[in-house]
Amino acid sequence: MESLSVEAALQGILARIQPLPARGTALDEALGRVLAEDIHATENLPPFPNSAVDGFAVRAADLATATREHPAHLKVLADAPAGTVVCCEVVPGAAVRIMTGAELPPGTEVVVPVEETSSTPGEVQVFRCLGAGLNLRLAGEDVRAGEVVAERGTLVRPAEIGLLAALGRVEVPVVPAPRVAVLTTGAELVEAGHKPGPGQIRDANIHGLGAQVRAAGALFQPFPRVPDTREAVEEALRQAIGTCDVVLTNGGVSVGDYDFVRETLDRLGAEPVFIQVAQKPGRPLSFWLLQGKPVFGLPGNPVAAMVCFELYVRPALRKLMGHIALFRPKGTAKLAEDYRKGPKDARTHWLRVRVQVSPDGWVATRTGPQGSGILSSMTKSNAIAEIPALGGSLKAGEAVTVHLTDQPEDH
Ligand code: AMP
Ligand code: MG
Repeated sequence: MESLSVEAALQGILARIQPLPARGTALDEALGRVLAEDIHATENLPPFPNSAVDGFAVRAADLATATREHPAHLKVLADAPAGTVVCCEVVPGAAVRIMTGAELPPGTEVVVPVEETSSTPGEVQVFRCLGAGLNLRLAGEDVRAGEVVAERGTLVRPAEIGLLAALGRVEVPVVPAPRVAVLTTGAELVEAGHKPGPGQIRDANIHGLGAQVRAAGALFQPFPRVPDTREAVEEALRQAIGTCDVVLTNGGVSVGDYDFVRETLDRLGAEPVFIQVAQKPGRPLSFWLLQGKPVFGLPGNPVAAMVCFELYVRPALRKLMGHIALFRPKGTAKLAEDYRKGPKDARTHWLRVRVQVSPDGWVATRTGPQGSGILSSMTKSNAIAEIPALGGSLKAGEAVTVHLTDQPEDH
């Protein structure tokens, strides 16, 4: 059976995925989502000129000779607490007692912080000469009306929520979080909280994959584990495709006697985009469209499942969620040890590695045995190193591309 190259497989997936339709969403619900449109400010921020400190609004010329020994004496005309309307004009020889955030009275050239003054209700002494413009916030100095404050494709973080609230946006168009069904298959599996009987193991992947789904910002929809029968696999797939935006099946995609995922997808009329990739781990990765929705057939081996999620499912979910940057940062690191790969082996090998900075650049050290069931090799890694499909063994010190899986996407 023909295996697709890594690049062709990724391309095949991404070419078939478009962002989910945007939805007007309450601002507080938009955290972690991606903006579907540019957001323009409809007003200035700040909306009016105001004081940056608690103090006295004055004319600059009145402070020209002020010192601690010879303070300027000014008449206090009024109080301007925050949230009130402007009381009067600051005329020469006078001051207005003003609080942080209060609108500047006309005539204000500078606000003297209260720490530089001494006052009675009717008079203030100013001990320092301050130039015009100090401690003032001008209308529109933060954001100008009409300006784009957040572009399409921006991740909505707390900072975006705060700014949009300041501008009066209580609803924003964002791409909703996709619901991602995770179906694990295998008669040998039991719940993580149960003691396995003879021949049984715990279902690690429903939790590991579920966590990857949530870490990507999507909604994890766990499904009851699927027994290895045609009927059970078909029923679970029907349910999942009917209620979710993406389906991840796990296990049962090889050619074992009880591997029913492929034939069931076929029977349900799914379009197979590819059913094998020239890579290790993760050769049995398959990708389908069922009722127009993406279905990933992930291998059952826990490391293979996680690596395939990281390299294929995560970029696909990000595209579906409207992100512009789909891929983790890449770099070049020197292999710490030799790596053996047969000269006729035309698969890309993915190694779990720890990338560390050394005086002569990044070094990638394998995190232990690389078997596709060795989950501890994942927990110790911070990157996946790519051993190219073309070319054989590599010597220690040779350069490889590393995908930094603990870092946010940058391209
Ligand atoms: P399969 O692809 O179903 O043939 O599974 C390949 C290997 O992965 C077998 O050793 C399975 O026991 C193991 N495996 C499959 N699914 C899981 C799972 N959800 N959690 C842990 N191991 C699994
Ligand atoms: Mg199985």
